[in-house]
Amino acid sequence: MNWDIVFKIDPYSVLFLWTMFEKKDLLNVPKDKLFEELLTQGWEKYRLKQLDEWLWKHAIRDFQAMSNLSKTQRAYLDEHFYIPALIESKIQTSLDGTMKFRFKLFDGPFIESVLIPVPDENRFTVCVSSQAGCSLSCTFCATGQMGLIRQLTASEIFDQYILVNKKCIEVYGKPLSNIVYMGMGEPLLNYKNVIQSIEKLTSPDGPMLSSKRITISTAGIAKMIKKLADDGLKVNLALSLHAGDDLKRNKMMAINETNNLASLIESLKYFYKKTGNRISYEYIAFDGFNDQISDAKNLIRLCSQFPVRVNIIEYNRVPGMDFTKSTEDQINRFAQEVRKHGIMITVRRSRGKDIDAACGQLANQEA
Ligand code: SF4
Repeated sequence: MNWDIVFKIDPYSVLFLWTMFEKKDLLNVPKDKLFEELLTQGWEKYRLKQLDEWLWKHAIRDFQAMSNLSKTQRAYLDEHFYIPALIESKIQTSLDGTMKFRFKLFDGPFIESVLIPVPDENRFTVCVSSQAGCSLSCTFCATGQMGLIRQLTASEIFDQYILVNKKCIEVYGKPLSNIVYMGMGEPLLNYKNVIQSIEKLTSPDGPMLSSKRITISTAGIAKMIKKLADDGLKVNLALSLHAGDDLKRNKMMAINETNNLASLIESLKYFYKKTGNRISYEYIAFDGFNDQISDAKNLIRLCSQFPVRVNIIEYNRVPGMDFTKSTEDQINRFAQEVRKHGIMITVRRSRGKDIDAACGQLANQEA
């Protein structure tokens, strides 16, 4: 038992947790079971459809707002179910327009999501969290320092999209165009809920997002990459590579000790062969560590196996960590070397670093 977490839970959450023992989670109870229960209570079939639309099409999280259900039906729901809605706790806006959202989960922990707007290109991307904290402890990442608090449910992932989308429309007059599972946590270690959230996001009964607009980013779990391929989802996959040799990768990402580059490349080949979906490598450039020409050559070797794009990401220093960011000149030299080999490579300048919203900085810190 993590007593630290228990003591951090506030009285509201304790009350909520108490009701949880008596009631069921309406958003995460399997649909067939829910419908079966309501049918035995005498609900007509069209009422089930109405309820489903409130939950997933309109994303309503308050029984009383489900206006076309009868009073008795709303009262039944209230008596037997709870809705684990996200509570918006804080929004910060960066000088570059990036917005960081801090959400409180119903049982106390906080998670973060980030809206990255590129209005000129009509691109509005939300970066969602898949876990509260993370168990993988990558040495450059603030989330990794927190440890894993808990898995997010499918609805908690789905609701990040809904709430950020609402804000995006309010501020930019445009809905979100892309979603990346690149916030707190390792999505492939919360596989079932991540997949369910994607099913809800792409469903004709929900926001109907195109799966081509969805990217799952992983630190690299070979077996789960193969499972993702077998399950046939049409999503893009990003591997947080950060080094083209095992020795360096082991130093940054402990997961590499059990999922080395050879096994990852094999699983990515499998993924590509089976799905034909887009694969990218994310590569954070660390000064003097992985930004030399010899490192670029290691990366180039890994790009010859299947079509892949490379995104070089500027590092944002996390206090207490050894790494510092590469200079602009060094990043350009590195990128040029890779580009010379006909590999698609983009250098991504960091977004939202003044509000700790950039890659590797999500850690629920008060800014
Ligand atoms: S980089 Fe990703 S996988 Fe690694 S600790 Fe951070 S959140 Fe977890």
